[in-house]
Amino acid sequence: MSGASPRLQRLARVRAAMDGAGVDALLLSLGADLPWLTGYEAMPLERLTMLVLPADADAVLVVPELEAPRVEEDPELFALRPWAEGDDPVSVVADLVGGRRRLAVSDRAWATFLVSLQSALPGRSWEVSSRVTGPLRAVKDRAEVEALAAVSAAADRVAAALLGGEIALVGRSERDVSDELGRRLVAEGHDRVNFAIVGSGPNSASPHHEPGARVIGPGEAVVCDFGGTMAGYCSDITRTVLTGDPSPELAELYAVLQEAQASAVAAATVGTACEDVDRVARERIAAGGYGDAFIHRTGHGIGLEEHEDPYIVAGNRQGLVAGHAFSVEPGIYLSGRYGARIEDIVVATDSGPRPLNLASHDLTVVA
Ligand code: ZN
Ligand code: ZN
Ligand code: ZN
Repeated sequence: MSGASPRLQRLARVRAAMDGAGVDALLLSLGADLPWLTGYEAMPLERLTMLVLPADADAVLVVPELEAPRVEEDPELFALRPWAEGDDPVSVVADLVGGRRRLAVSDRAWATFLVSLQSALPGRSWEVSSRVTGPLRAVKDRAEVEALAAVSAAADRVAAALLGGEIALVGRSERDVSDELGRRLVAEGHDRVNFAIVGSGPNSASPHHEPGARVIGPGEAVVCDFGGTMAGYCSDITRTVLTGDPSPELAELYAVLQEAQASAVAAATVGTACEDVDRVARERIAAGGYGDAFIHRTGHGIGLEEHEDPYIVAGNRQGLVAGHAFSVEPGIYLSGRYGARIEDIVVATDSGPRPLNLASHDLTVVA
């Protein structure tokens, strides 16, 4: 364990977790587990890439020969096993697995490969790799927290432009505004836009509304929920703005939401169960009379993927630990009328919840 680079530390944690879960070999292909562990992201190709990590032997990365030059080799972490056109990569993987019985395969591996592997390796048990890697990836190390802070700050700058009225809304289509949010995410340093929801008027009551041709009018609520990836890590922020003075009902609804979101963030301390963070938001919203209008969980973990462990949802009794990074995003949706949501990314730390999004939560009227 020379120097114990972050990746070697991760490998040691993975091996310990495999041991605890009784997994004999981990088979990592598409998805975030492989880059998290090795720095290499498999191409989504019909040619198989798979890291074979046996519990009792060194890891081997099976990769198409033509992709091998892209692999940054790290002999302490894995050996490289390129396969040539005409070779059968499934039998290469099967040979490396050998007689091992309990196998865990990437959640995002293609069924094409899994089905072939299952016939090449009969009589084994199969499960998803996230059972081993999910709880580990959920706890971010220092470098990952800083990457999340940087990408969240970039998203915050776009949110600040929205709240500051720099992004025209009235008279433009949701699609137009969505495109502008995406362009601004890239201008602020994102490598990729993952989504930019813009729901205006009645569409603001649809949490995952697909922005379309609807032209935003005056006096409407506009829910903007956007995020992307920068240096591998994801942002995700929601702000709701108004294109005119709010009705007393909307102002009251928003006040309930703002308080619910802030209380849930404050509750996200180390040791608190994920479901209790959800309950804090839910109880405040129910007390305001909108219990039936909060129709989704309070949040999701975030990191290399937009949605990953830990989920802030009823039934998840897992306690928060320092390094957990997740969204806190309650919403209130009055079907057919309007809705609002506020979302920040938060990291649990030993000195309390650390919000990574700092753009204002105040009810903001923009033109
Ligand atoms: Zn969502
Ligand atoms: Zn979001
Ligand atoms: Zn989210």
